Amino acid sequence: MKSSPISRRRALRTAGVAAIGGGAAALLGGGTLAAQGGAPAIASNNQAGRKYKAFVKFNQERPTVVELTARGLTGNLVLLRVEAAQTCYSSVDQVLLNDERTGTGNATIVGHGGVGIVEAVGPQVLSTRVGDRVILNLHDACGRCFNCLHMRSDKCAAGQAGPQQPVANMADGKPVFGRTGAMAELAITTEEYVTPLFTTVSPAEIAMLTCVAGCGLGMTMTNCPVDAASDVVIFGGGPIGLASVMGAKVKGASTIILVEPIPYRRELGMKLGATHVVDPNQFKTRTPIPNAGGTSDHFKDALVDHLREMTKENHDRVWSGAGRNGPHHVIEAVGGDRWKPKTQPQGPDPTGVTVLNQCWELGSSIGSIATCSVGHPSDAFVRIPAAQWADGAKHHLPGTGGGTNDRRDSGRYCRLTETGQINLKALVGKTYPLSQTREAYLECAERDVISTVVLPNT
Ligand SMILES: [Zn+2]
Ligand SMILES: [Zn+2]
Repeated sequence: MKSSPISRRRALRTAGVAAIGGGAAALLGGGTLAAQGGAPAIASNNQAGRKYKAFVKFNQERPTVVELTARGLTGNLVLLRVEAAQTCYSSVDQVLLNDERTGTGNATIVGHGGVGIVEAVGPQVLSTRVGDRVILNLHDACGRCFNCLHMRSDKCAAGQAGPQQPVANMADGKPVFGRTGAMAELAITTEEYVTPLFTTVSPAEIAMLTCVAGCGLGMTMTNCPVDAASDVVIFGGGPIGLASVMGAKVKGASTIILVEPIPYRRELGMKLGATHVVDPNQFKTRTPIPNAGGTSDHFKDALVDHLREMTKENHDRVWSGAGRNGPHHVIEAVGGDRWKPKTQPQGPDPTGVTVLNQCWELGSSIGSIATCSVGHPSDAFVRIPAAQWADGAKHHLPGTGGGTNDRRDSGRYCRLTETGQINLKALVGKTYPLSQTREAYLECAERDVISTVVLPNT
């Protein structure tokens, strides 16, 4: 879709609302703004009292669209007008269910990540300006905590540091939280969560980078050392797995095998760079191999055998470089099913745990295995042969965001999109207005489309 710049009239109108609470609004021009559709700047950072709609979950009730009143911008807070936000599958039960497992405790704006135009900043903000198009990251990527300093900003610890501050009030005065909640007309967050992007990529495409595609690209482009001419097996052809396919292609992998039960997702995978696709439902046989003590921790697995055969070396002369016993890299992007697909086939194991075992079994003795998924049953465990785990050389590389550093990588992912090296547009399924956010999550849960994106200001 085409990007839609803020009209001057609209900015004036919102600036007028922004003046509630004492701050006078003024308009500024600027070169950097012209590059982003001429969005005018609002000089005031006093946004207290501004009304806006948001999709809010309160305790365990299903979320609904309600009107909120913004709190004032202080310190390093940033306010953006949200253009697009994708509905991550990991949030579907929070939206669609109303049991105690999904309770939030506080009123919380749903969603994690999005994209929008900055309309106001707090006095301490350095890295972004009014008028910038910014991605609202999944993580803070603060650059200062232990994990960030050790190149793992996907595990940035700053988000958990200190008490969460409310960003708005409900009509009855209840505080509303949600620094990354972008299922709203406005998002109020801290500077560490936003990254300015100087790109022609559309907001809906950029929105895919928050969480899903950023995670998938991170796994094959950063976390897992995919190199030229390598073999990569990717379990799961949702937006994360498909982004991993594209990342593996960019890194020069020669064989990219996508394992996915849903036919249209396999087809999409082939269009986006997979060299082969496999339906796991065709290889469901998993036979326990009894241990000496009568237990069964080892399996003969038809899918693992098939994938190993597909990635077999073309000669067996060990003294001439042979000896690899599996693909160079295995990527897991499956997780546990939170919702049964409406019409599409479900994978062999809805808990997703079998895939984790298969990843370990398939990985070559010195290869890498990257995992990123969530949604497994809380009482599920992966069992790994102790000797292999302790003495083997398989490299397990887990990560919430798949190793992506949002602030470092979002810009380069946009650049790869501009040059046609990756195709984020192919990951954008259906778009919805804010009033139909619940329907968007239901469609995401049912998996008849590759993804759903909410455009809160349309
Ligand atoms: Zn997510
Ligand atoms: Zn950090």
